[in-house]
Amino acid sequence: MYTTAINVLKRLTHFFNRSSSRKATDDQCVLTSNEHSLDPADICKNAREVVRVLQSRNFEAYVVGGCVRDILLGLKPKDFDIATNATPQQVKRLFRRSRIIGRRFQIVHVQFGRDIIEVTTFRSNDTEHTNLVQQTESGLLTRDNKFGSLVDDATRRDLTINALYYDTEKNCLHDYCDGLDDLESRTIRIIGTPSIRYSEDPVRMLRVARFAGKLGFDIDPKSSKPMVKLGSKLKHVSSPRMFDETLKLFMSGYGLDVFERLLEYKLFAHLVPQTNRLIEQGHPTALAMVKQALTNTDLRIQNKQRVTPAFIYAAMLWPAVQKTAQELQNHGQPATTAINKAASEVISNQIPITAIPKRFTLAMREIWAMQLTLSKRGGNRAKRLMEQPRFRAAYDFVLLREQTGEQLDGLGDWWTKYQDVDEETRQQMVQKLNAGQSKGRRPRRRPRQSD
Ligand code: ATP
Ligand code: MG
Repeated sequence: MYTTAINVLKRLTHFFNRSSSRKATDDQCVLTSNEHSLDPADICKNAREVVRVLQSRNFEAYVVGGCVRDILLGLKPKDFDIATNATPQQVKRLFRRSRIIGRRFQIVHVQFGRDIIEVTTFRSNDTEHTNLVQQTESGLLTRDNKFGSLVDDATRRDLTINALYYDTEKNCLHDYCDGLDDLESRTIRIIGTPSIRYSEDPVRMLRVARFAGKLGFDIDPKSSKPMVKLGSKLKHVSSPRMFDETLKLFMSGYGLDVFERLLEYKLFAHLVPQTNRLIEQGHPTALAMVKQALTNTDLRIQNKQRVTPAFIYAAMLWPAVQKTAQELQNHGQPATTAINKAASEVISNQIPITAIPKRFTLAMREIWAMQLTLSKRGGNRAKRLMEQPRFRAAYDFVLLREQTGEQLDGLGDWWTKYQDVDEETRQQMVQKLNAGQSKGRRPRRRPRQSD
């Protein structure tokens, strides 16, 4: 049911045919059915139902945000959001299976089977004379629950292309911020004064980079100009929210393009500073590691394969772990101790920025530690290693390291073959390895007491 190429063409032709003199008044921001190319059937049934129910009780209600943008671009929307003038409590009363969530933003989740439709009440950005909107000295909004009109709501959204409202009952499209023009010219533009909007919520800078990467749009120079300077404001954002945002940046299928934008606007420095420093110092594999990990992740998502934050963070932090481990080894620490200590240090530097949940940091540690054990394949070890739950991820990690130019003496190929062959050949592979090792083996030293 989603847009075919012909439909996309039709939609874009509509943009060109729109009269540019339209926007003089609020009314002229409303496009009727013959002036836009959306069809209520483009919108999922449950979202239409929410709009219908709200409007039947005389509330205003629209489908808004990413789904309208994506349908107009011929993309499949990720989810459907609704904006209304009904308060969260009023919305909740109308839908039996619904609940109010959030503090900074109160929103209502309306549930239809496994599908959740997010309903937000129109908000205003007016920070004066109210305790419903709270702002810190740096301009950061810590509470944002002042309700407003449809136009207020449009102007407090982040990007012009995200501020399109579709009334599925009347089949009209409301465009108060020239979002259609920006879709047409493929421009990412922040609504309002960029520096103020970024100070209110620094995550908007990440969203600019994300949508530019996802859609392949250019960033309007006025919107991009303050980003380098204001990037450090990301430190005011809570670490759990930052973690969620990094997942959207890197695990949505266009991570490499987003990463290029993050580098360009020096935002990566505020997300993964330990690795960013190494990239800036010209570390031989740090940049390649991040890029290759994201390329592989994008491909896996395209192929509908599973991806996990543990693997991506393991890859992004690996150059820092390896460097720290090397330094510890240079100071006489055994390799295993060094890698474990380096893991702890690097993870504890990262957590205050992006709160990676423990289940992922545990997996990251295992992947890193197994980089050592995967090279010790003698005796029964190879067989036992393969049975470990983290084997697959650790093996993929070896392949990733080799892809980025690390020399691991054919370790990846060995494991690829080992998994592929029968038991007898496996034994031969291990024997060959043992023979090779014992040939050059030096007499065993007694471990020192301090080891
Ligand atoms: P997608 O869901 O495809 O990632 P989206 O645009 O729908 O993209 P959401 O995070 O679902 O993004 O947000 C829904 C809408 O809420 C956005 O389109 C935008 O209008 C508004 N919005 C989201 N985050 C912010 C923000 N930080 N500041 C202002 N408006 C925002
Ligand atoms: Mg969305």
